[in-house]
Amino acid sequence: MLIDETGRMDEEIEYLQVKKPKIMEGIQPQKGWIEAIGGSMFSGKTEELIRRLKRANIAKQKVEIFKPRIDNRYHETKIVSHDNNEIFSVVVESASDILLLAPKDLEVVGIDEAQFFTEGLPEVCEILAGRKIRVIVAGLDLDYLGKPFGPMPALFAIAEFVTKVHAICPECGYLASHSHRITEGDELFLVGGKDEYLPLCRLHFYEKNPHLVKK
Ligand SMILES: [Zn+2]
Repeated sequence: MLIDETGRMDEEIEYLQVKKPKIMEGIQPQKGWIEAIGGSMFSGKTEELIRRLKRANIAKQKVEIFKPRIDNRYHETKIVSHDNNEIFSVVVESASDILLLAPKDLEVVGIDEAQFFTEGLPEVCEILAGRKIRVIVAGLDLDYLGKPFGPMPALFAIAEFVTKVHAICPECGYLASHSHRITEGDELFLVGGKDEYLPLCRLHFYEKNPHLVKK
């Protein structure tokens, strides 16, 4: 069992990457794979992404984070700082920009807000993994209508490791998997915070959205 909620999967793969265990003669060690992290709003997706990247950074691996441009800001944001090592979040226009901007010696790439990228993102992740890069991609797996969001289903399919994280449903205290939009509007790409979305469990999501119940 490689995946559990304590992050054991993460430690296992770091062991493989850092320690380079003895392998059968003639077989190259695996270096380059895809990890997908999905969940609702306020489920800690980005925190989980950052946690993994921080650990790689501490191990002195070359790390970078990419985010899609979803508003008018275009800038670099410092995400992590440890012993003068910094991870910058680079805002890109499209998934293919990640290929252009990823440094040649990059070892680990984080991709946040993956749901806002186009369907081209899974292919980009596969190209990066083919370059022996550890790819960690995090995003909202369901939109506010409870439908699979953008490239997330394909990312879950091609990833070697899939982690679902959850918020807590304020109605019942059960794990929240859905993002309920509180405000009006049918814009799919509404970027919002606590005033716009409420994480809910399946039961309470469909209770508040009876028009979305599948029959
Ligand atoms: Zn609930």
